[in-house]
Amino acid sequence: MKYIYGPIKSRRLGLSLGLSLSPDKTCDLDCIYCQWGSTGRTVLERKEYAQVGQIILELKSWLQEHPQAAKELKFVTLSGLGEPTLHTGFGGLIDQARELTGAKIAVITNSTFLGDKAVRQELLKADLIVPSLDAVDPVIFERIDRPHPGVRLDEIIDGLVALRKEFAGTIWLEIMLVAGVNDDDAHIQGLKKAIRRINPDKIQLNSPVRATAEKNVLPVEKSKLLKIKEILGDKAEII
Ligand code: SF4
Repeated sequence: MKYIYGPIKSRRLGLSLGLSLSPDKTCDLDCIYCQWGSTGRTVLERKEYAQVGQIILELKSWLQEHPQAAKELKFVTLSGLGEPTLHTGFGGLIDQARELTGAKIAVITNSTFLGDKAVRQELLKADLIVPSLDAVDPVIFERIDRPHPGVRLDEIIDGLVALRKEFAGTIWLEIMLVAGVNDDDAHIQGLKKAIRRINPDKIQLNSPVRATAEKNVLPVEKSKLLKIKEILGDKAEII
């Protein structure tokens, strides 16, 4: 299948099925730690990268072929090969996936379109949003996430703050920590300040363990991760 992956059983979500919203990696960031390899050319244009009808057809045949797993499904997750909010039809896809599966809907996003009220409006349809924020310093943001020139870090942070005010569902803020890039004390204090404004339900700290887009992208040592978790407070957990 082209647009469906999984299902995956996790402690966080239970049994979840992933939907990719593009046939190839399509993203406005080129994160050094990306598990899909380098983005190559980043894109900022929002459009229907994959036909929603095609994704739904695949979902229907998966449900038919896996009746038992379909019954146990707890979440359908929009993520996959790139940034789901680049797809102009992601809100409609949320509605259709929920209706077909009866499962909750999670969206994993890199947060870059959260400054756009129309995108936030569509995101309100989800049950769980997992936005990422790897940096609060523009220089570190450039280094770790290598954004398209049109992406603005201040708009990302303001968008996250606005999303929290508008969205009654659950927000788990994910931070990917890379040794020597975004894990120094001053930056962690900056993240803490921004997180206080954003007020997510949880803060999920991650560090690369799989193959990454660039070489020498190193995970943060466990002892340091624990220290960062302590600094960020009760909502933080290491995943
Ligand atoms: S935002 Fe996600 S898909 Fe895009 S480059 Fe970063 S890790 Fe990869």
